[in-house]
Amino acid sequence: MSHDWKASSKRFINTLLGAGKVDRVPYFALIMEQMITRIAGINVRTLYSSPKILADSTIMASEFLNVDTLHIPTAWAGPSEALAFAEANDKKNVIKWFDYLPIFIEQGKICQTVEDIENLKLPDHKEIKLWKTTFAAVKRVREKRKVGHALSLGIWNLVQQLRGVQAFKDMRENPEILLELCEKIYQSQINLYHDWTKEVGPIPSIFYTGYSFNKTMMSFEDAMKFEGQFINRLQKELGVPFILHNCGMKPYFKEICNEIDFIAVNGSHPLDINYWVDFKKKFPKVTIMGATIDVSQELLTGTPLDVEEKVKENILNLAPGGRYMVSPICALPWNVPLPNILAISKAIETYGYYPIA
Ligand SMILES: [Zn+2]
Repeated sequence: MSHDWKASSKRFINTLLGAGKVDRVPYFALIMEQMITRIAGINVRTLYSSPKILADSTIMASEFLNVDTLHIPTAWAGPSEALAFAEANDKKNVIKWFDYLPIFIEQGKICQTVEDIENLKLPDHKEIKLWKTTFAAVKRVREKRKVGHALSLGIWNLVQQLRGVQAFKDMRENPEILLELCEKIYQSQINLYHDWTKEVGPIPSIFYTGYSFNKTMMSFEDAMKFEGQFINRLQKELGVPFILHNCGMKPYFKEICNEIDFIAVNGSHPLDINYWVDFKKKFPKVTIMGATIDVSQELLTGTPLDVEEKVKENILNLAPGGRYMVSPICALPWNVPLPNILAISKAIETYGYYPIA
């Protein structure tokens, strides 16, 4: 059976905007390197070797899992952006490759010293091979399947990759130097946005990974200082809607939605469904993507029936009235049984059609 991307796009966009007719609850999943390589039967080096392989493998995995969005895994200012900084600063030796996982940058090696931060060069994304491949792959996905494609940004996630645990000491001992690093990362992500629009075309939304907004990470005040203020500036500068992703255990979803406008939140914690029912009441215009479907719970250790029950619970509690998408969080891991993953789309088919029973 061929995938109806036109129908997928419509249900995704209408749910995100809370407007128009939606036939059923959309399915959004973070299908990254670990899942694409597994489904396509290739390793990460092969996946990144050409725009065609990167695009076609992403399409294959997304259609196999029957999701409603397409997203090239490297179209994220996460590991791909850290790699760009490594290359721009002649530190390619800190880039680590794995067969079935995203590339990894040894944390804290690119900005080991204060001088490293002061002298940090911003990458030219048009000259970085992985970004060139990514731009071309996004174009190919859009041409082949006629769907929109978001760009993923994130300031603190890069701070941690470049500065490592030293960033947490800087917060107390030298906040100025940390802000200087945030500022450089911010500028690089603005550049990335403009390079993308030039090379690929308009960006419908930003999928923002706001990892600092977590009680286990830092206070809400510090999160606003080292990430939130930059999100505000990004929003002003870019003028497109932002979706907030946070896969931490104690996220500040309610607090941040009081301060910053997001069109949607994507998270799996707290695991208490009542928190999310209350969230929906308090923020009726913020679409919930996920709620309590965590990839390290039922999906990892349960049965397909357990997964179905979890998805059903989320749909019945959060889908009435719209603005809800099923989304397991975070990235679908390599070690989750495929029958459990396939149980998600099965549950959506069974329980996700409007009106919700
Ligand atoms: Zn995540």
